[in-house]
Amino acid sequence: MNIGQEVLKALKEEISELEYNRYIRHLSYDIKKSTGDAAIFYAPNALVVNWIKNKYREKIAHLFEIKNGSKVNIKITLKNTIEKRKTKKNVEVKQNSSLLNPSHSFDNFMVGGSNQFAYAAVKSVSENAGKVYNPLFIYGGVGLGKTHLMQAAGNVFQNEGKVVIYTTVEQFLNDFIRHVRNKTMERFQEKYRKCDVLLIDDIQFLSNKEGIQEEFFHTFEALKGAGKQIILTADKHPKKIGGLEARLQSRFEWGLVADIQPPELETKIAIIKKKCEINKVKLSEDIVNYIATVIDSNVREIEGILSKLHAYSQLMHVDIDLDFTKNVLKDQMNENRANLTMETITQIVAKDLNIKPSEIRSKGRSKNIVYARRISIYICRELTQNTMPQLAQYFGMKDHTAISHTIKKINSLIKDDEDFKVKIDELTNKITSSS
Ligand code: ADP
Ligand code: MG
Repeated sequence: MNIGQEVLKALKEEISELEYNRYIRHLSYDIKKSTGDAAIFYAPNALVVNWIKNKYREKIAHLFEIKNGSKVNIKITLKNTIEKRKTKKNVEVKQNSSLLNPSHSFDNFMVGGSNQFAYAAVKSVSENAGKVYNPLFIYGGVGLGKTHLMQAAGNVFQNEGKVVIYTTVEQFLNDFIRHVRNKTMERFQEKYRKCDVLLIDDIQFLSNKEGIQEEFFHTFEALKGAGKQIILTADKHPKKIGGLEARLQSRFEWGLVADIQPPELETKIAIIKKKCEINKVKLSEDIVNYIATVIDSNVREIEGILSKLHAYSQLMHVDIDLDFTKNVLKDQMNENRANLTMETITQIVAKDLNIKPSEIRSKGRSKNIVYARRISIYICRELTQNTMPQLAQYFGMKDHTAISHTIKKINSLIKDDEDFKVKIDELTNKITSSS
């Protein structure tokens, strides 16, 4: 028995048989690829990968440490991505193995108002390497699809046989340091200056690192001079990054700078549907809409949620219905919404409906005030931890029964009145993306 198998056996002792059979049993340890620092396990699908990363990775790492005597980095990855790569005979590609995620394709990227500009720019670059926008600079918040888009272009280039390097600033820096230490800088320069396409992710980390900025500048000049495509991403516009040499900052703006904004509700829905399709999870429209309205704009959360839903439903042998989804997402929402207050919610609702927050909290009985008040109460109940008496106090109502009466009323409106439901969804979305 190898060490990986031993660790899994030890894990079996610590968890229930059901959990073991559902998830851990499917893991296989790659004894050839694993090293003293890194242990590599394969899982059969993305859901199991996520589930194990979330729930067991620390345990596995701990058990490894006990057996091994030192810390080991645990990698859980998909079996077929590695196999697919193995079957590619192209040594060139392998040598430059740029670790592009094959599922980061244009087909899997859902386009909406928030990201269509960036999408169009990357797509155009993927069809005209080095000819249209060079460099192409994509910026936007966390989890909005920058890496996905950049790698989608990378995948296209790689399939055309181009030598593509995908790297983060951190990896680039580590590689640089290693080559300096080994006195093999020519090899470093050869590698980065002779590729066909260079993709560098999260370029904001160049900030205030002079040595690597200098090296990157020369890499940039060499590639740009040779008409090779460069794509960069960052969390901010080049002007806002700060701590960058002026010559670099200006070069970042030479080609095209495109932003990605948080997705609107429809785009989120499309993304969830796509992820369900990829991960073979079946969810009703209701549930998809619910997830889209409660999650933040950070798309990265979606995959975690789907894998949680799938995993729980398997473990507990239940179908995924709306109540079940609400339960599963509670933890996640509580974490995200810890800072969301009744005040913020009331303000956003008031602004949207063109009345004053104080009117919502008043005893006013006019139609639009009652409408706004109902919506605010309902959303506060859904998104905050406040109790019914707290809600009653905040909204100036008699007591908790008045609140519970209002909530009942709203639930029946949601059932019968499609426009009302849409309004609630829209506002919930607005509120959750503001936090
Ligand atoms: P960023 O690099 O901007 O932080 P990522 O590219 O890593 O974000 O995206 C986070 C996750 O969200 C990935 O799983 C990605 O596939 C997914 N994602 C983001 N935007 C979209 C989209 N428009 N369509 C499909 N998936 C998306
Ligand atoms: Mg990224």
